[in-house]
Amino acid sequence: MNFNKEDIFKRLKEYMEIEGVSRYEDNVAKAIIKNTNSKNLNYEYDNFGSLIVTKKDHNNGPKIMISAHMDEVGYAVLDILDNGQIKVAAIGGIWPTVVVGTKAKLIASSGKEFYGIFGHTSIHIMEREKISKAMTTKDLFVDFGFKDKKEAEEQGIEPGDRILMHGETFRLYNSDLVVGKSMDNRAGVTVLDFIINSLKDEKLPNRPYFVGTVQEEVGTRGAKTSVSYINPDIAIALDTTSSHDTDGAIKGRQKLGDGVAIRVQDGGTMMDPKLVDYIYKLAKEKNIKVYKFLAQGGGTDAAELQYGKGGVATLTISIPQRYLHSPLGVCHLEDLKNVTELLIEFLKNMNEKEYNKIQYK
Ligand SMILES: [Zn+2]
Repeated sequence: MNFNKEDIFKRLKEYMEIEGVSRYEDNVAKAIIKNTNSKNLNYEYDNFGSLIVTKKDHNNGPKIMISAHMDEVGYAVLDILDNGQIKVAAIGGIWPTVVVGTKAKLIASSGKEFYGIFGHTSIHIMEREKISKAMTTKDLFVDFGFKDKKEAEEQGIEPGDRILMHGETFRLYNSDLVVGKSMDNRAGVTVLDFIINSLKDEKLPNRPYFVGTVQEEVGTRGAKTSVSYINPDIAIALDTTSSHDTDGAIKGRQKLGDGVAIRVQDGGTMMDPKLVDYIYKLAKEKNIKVYKFLAQGGGTDAAELQYGKGGVATLTISIPQRYLHSPLGVCHLEDLKNVTELLIEFLKNMNEKEYNKIQYK
C-alpha cells in the first residue's frame, strides 16, 4: 500500500484544526464519519460519545478494537475576575508555562467565540521572589479584553465555558515535519481514518472495531466505557508519545522519523508480550521501520482497554511527537505513514489461528 504524504498532511491538518477539548469531541467524530463514509460501514456511539465504526461484512475471527482518542487538552472558565480577566481550570495535564503569551479561544455555551491571550505578569513588573519560581495554573489568567466582570457576563461568559489553545498548522524546513494544534491525538485520528478507508471494502479474517474515544486526557474515561461496550479480544491504543530528540530531554528511544514506536510498557499498562512480539515481527517481515520503547511518563487508553471483560490482550502503538500538550506539536509524516501501513498489515493477518497462539491456555 502506498500512501501519499500530501494526502496524509491534508487530512491531519483538517483534524488538527477542529476544536475538541475533552467532553466536546463531537466535531472530530463527525469529521471521521464524513471522511470515511461508506455503505459498508456502521457508525454508532456509546453513551459517553466515543465513536465506534464497524464493517457490515465482518468475519467471525477475533474482535480487534483500535482506539484513537479524539479529545485535546485545554481549559475551562473557573471564575471571572472583577477586572474582566478570566481564571481557568486545566482540562488534562498542561504545564501552564507553555501557554503563557499565546493565543486563546473561548467558546461560550451560546456558541459565541472570543479570542484572547493566556495572560501573565511581565517580568518587568513581577514581584522579585516570584521571578525564579515555576508558575502554576493558579497564576494563569486569560485576557479577552473585557473591561470588567459585568461586561464578560453580558457577553455570556459562564463557568465551564471551554477555552482552547490556538495554534496554526505549518511545515518546518524538513517538510515532513508538520506543526499544529492538538497533534495529540489528531495524528492518531488521522491514522485511524486512513486504516478505515483502506480496509472498508476488504475482506478481513477478524472483526475490527475502529473507535474514536473521548475523555482520554482527563483519565482514559472513554476507553473504559467503549471497551466494556465492545468486549474485544485484542485492543490497540493508537496515540502520540513524547519524542526525546530535543535539547534537555531525558534519554529515551523515541525519535521523529524513526518509524513505528511500539510501547512495551508505561505507568499504567504492561503490553501483552506475545502481541508485541507478533506485531514487531510482522513489521520486520513487511520492511516497515519499527522499534520498541518503554515510556518514562504518560499513559494511554491501553490502561483501561486492558480491563475489558476477562482482561484483553493489549498493545499501544505510538507516534512520537515534540512539545506534547502545548499549543504547537510536531510529528513526522513518515511516522504516520509507517503506523498506518503496519496496522493495516496487522488487520489483514491477525486471524483465529494467530489469536489462538496469543491466548493463555
Ligand atoms: Zn494522547
